[in-house]
Amino acid sequence: MIVMKFGGSSVRDAERIECVSEIIRQHLARHPVIVVSALGSTTNNLIAAGKAALQGRVDLTTIKQHHLKTAQDLGLSVTEIEPLFEDLENLLKGICLLDELSPKTLDHLVSFGERLAAIIVAAYLTMCKIPAKPFNAWELGVITNSTFGDAEISPESYDHIAAALGSLKQCYDFTPVVTGFIAKDKNGAITTFGRGGSDLTASLLGAALKVEEIQVWKDVDGILTTDPKIVTAARPVLEISFEEASELAYFGAKVLHPLSMQPAMNSNIRVRVKNSYNPGHPGTIISGDPQQNGLVKAITCKRNVTLIDIVSSRMLGQYGFLASLFQVFAKHQISVDMVATSEISVSLTLNQEQALDAVLAELGAFSRVNLGRGKAILGIVGNIKRSSEILDGTFNILHAHGINVQMISQGASKVNIGLIVEDSEVELCVKELHRYFFEDQRIAA
Ligand code: ADP
Ligand code: ASP
Ligand code: MG
Repeated sequence: MIVMKFGGSSVRDAERIECVSEIIRQHLARHPVIVVSALGSTTNNLIAAGKAALQGRVDLTTIKQHHLKTAQDLGLSVTEIEPLFEDLENLLKGICLLDELSPKTLDHLVSFGERLAAIIVAAYLTMCKIPAKPFNAWELGVITNSTFGDAEISPESYDHIAAALGSLKQCYDFTPVVTGFIAKDKNGAITTFGRGGSDLTASLLGAALKVEEIQVWKDVDGILTTDPKIVTAARPVLEISFEEASELAYFGAKVLHPLSMQPAMNSNIRVRVKNSYNPGHPGTIISGDPQQNGLVKAITCKRNVTLIDIVSSRMLGQYGFLASLFQVFAKHQISVDMVATSEISVSLTLNQEQALDAVLAELGAFSRVNLGRGKAILGIVGNIKRSSEILDGTFNILHAHGINVQMISQGASKVNIGLIVEDSEVELCVKELHRYFFEDQRIAA
């Protein structure tokens, strides 16, 4: 048994869904469980429709037309998806009337994307003589907590999924097509895992069903040495560890959901990142024991980060100071990304979008605080045993381009080195470091 997850770009329109169905046909002997994301930019379009409803405009034309056209181009009847448009329109009217779009309502709203996708893909597979059935993930028992927009999987989900799909395996004469990204909380409200969350659904199903492989199909030849949108010469990394893949995702590589490796890693199930536009390419294998071990695996960047410097001589020799400091962030439910400390100062980074006035006021009561917006984290994922070599090369390159590093963080056992630079300079850093570590033959070898 395997899990095959197809992301938004893989199921963008009728032509891509036809390709996906051929890929699935070639894997039928391995009993695939399919996970789908919303078609193309549907999630973005749903969010935009929600915001427009807040401004008094209820309009689902773009979303409706795209799904109807896709279904018609595939030769499907639209009767199965039409009721969802009614529900969607009612929801948008509700948002408009109440002038309210809470995280809970937003999760309900974006769930329509994956629900529509599962129905369309299952219907098309069935039409192609691959009998298939759509499932909303909650019908298989995927339960989360109630943190809307960033929900956490409840542990009982694993047993639920195994009971629901594991038993089907014995007698199953259809291919399950499951909605990625969405779930329900214990009260029955729809939740989501955050953007890109279908990767996490795939990993969860794979771990629950103890499959031989989890495949995530995207529009790139696997995990690349950096974002191909910044460096066209980026090339596939053939093998990578779960830890390295997680670090890449935490530090901005949009190719995987940051938490998606956890279920697969805990169950030691191999993940393969493949390209639905180039299915013959082997892609990237993510496992517990990758064979390849170069100097640097990949370079990432996380844009629009805020840097906070907290300076206080009261920190000197004082126990409990850091605890009280971090309590302020915990109280305001603000998560901290990177941290570096000295005897009298702590520097940390946060996601830029968060409102910080209250936090700054509290921190200001016991320390001097400097706030720097418009920063970026430059991440280098590589062989920690050769960190001096990596840092030597990195600083030489950055110095040669007049780039100042404002903070640095490197774990003792982790494979990631994080550097804070100005956001406006980060693309140049990525390009130059990629050239140095991957395009310059002397170093790459
Ligand atoms: P899907 O939604 O199909 O699952 P995503 O769009 O979430 O896939 O991820 C694929 C995209 O991630 C690529 O098109 C690429 O632009 C971007 N990306 C960023 N960093 C990397 C990287 N290191 N390797 C591969 N892709 C990357
Ligand atoms: N459709 C969701 C998104 O665009 C989830 C996913 O694609 O994995 O973020
Ligand atoms: Mg995605």
